[in-house]
Amino acid sequence: MNKPKILIIYTGGTIGMIKNEKGVLLPFSLENLLNDIPLLKMFPADIDSVGLDKLIDSSDADTDFWLLLNDIIADNYDKFDGFVILHGSDTMAYTASALSFLLENLSKPVILTGSQLPIGLLRTDGRENIIASIELACMQKNGKPLIQEVCIYFEDNLYRGNRTNKYSAENFDAFISPNYPLLASVGTEIKIFEENFLKNNSDSLISHKKLCNEVAIIKLFPGIQVKTIKAITEIPDLKGIIIETYGSGNAPTDNKIINCFADTIAKGIIILNITQCTVGKVQQGKYETSTKLRDIGIVSGGDMTTEAALAKLMFLLAKDYSLKERTQLLSISIRGEMS
Ligand code: ASP
Repeated sequence: MNKPKILIIYTGGTIGMIKNEKGVLLPFSLENLLNDIPLLKMFPADIDSVGLDKLIDSSDADTDFWLLLNDIIADNYDKFDGFVILHGSDTMAYTASALSFLLENLSKPVILTGSQLPIGLLRTDGRENIIASIELACMQKNGKPLIQEVCIYFEDNLYRGNRTNKYSAENFDAFISPNYPLLASVGTEIKIFEENFLKNNSDSLISHKKLCNEVAIIKLFPGIQVKTIKAITEIPDLKGIIIETYGSGNAPTDNKIINCFADTIAKGIIILNITQCTVGKVQQGKYETSTKLRDIGIVSGGDMTTEAALAKLMFLLAKDYSLKERTQLLSISIRGEMS
């Protein structure tokens, strides 16, 4: 068997950061990062690497950055068997979600990883995260990559990327996948849960090239005023809104709020309902407080994370779909992002 070819794409993030003279962490060079892992040279794989011209703290990620990563993967797709993206953890779940929609029919692994402590520190979690991610990206079955989706690997666990959420700014296991099981767990042995993998029936990658960021998120809170909601719904050129609701998709029944949402939908703006709860799903109609939302045409986002919902909305709004088609696609799983 030929050695698998893996491309490491370095984008920045804590993993490669060093402190400047004021003690502030800033991204440093790819060479510096790779020098800290001499073990990479012993890997039974051909490993190549590319660093972005502008390394970022992932808080600076935006749609152009996602499209750039998407292009790097598409341009190198035929040359490599798998991709490992080194990325800051803060917005890693958003980037993983965006790539999952942009890269249709993926038949190779795209694994995002990073760390809570820079690679240059003795206690870093970065070294293990990179090594395990490469090992997972190298796995094959019947001559084909075993993993064929966008994942996040962090502290012993491989997750479906568009199911994750960064829940801890301190723990090494910074991510959770509250509504979908693990894809693999790494201990003394690597346990693979193939039954949880996305099944892909095609080898021909479609790399989508557009995202629409004319979107907004409204997080409901007790006492929210109609004028606050209106200020958002009346943003010029707005095309889609996520409302983060309570529990199983509930919102205040105040007619002024409901009418504001109804007027927004009448203007052709899609509203998607995502729960503020970490576990569970939106079920519009379960309570009176969500029945009105359903009746005016708000779309249920099921158990999607806000990260996945945002990326999906940006992806679908950039397409030439009718309102009806968009609504339909938002309600079903297209990349394993909802149950
Ligand atoms: N602020 C950093 C980033 O997201 C945090 C990290 O890498 O964990 O780029």
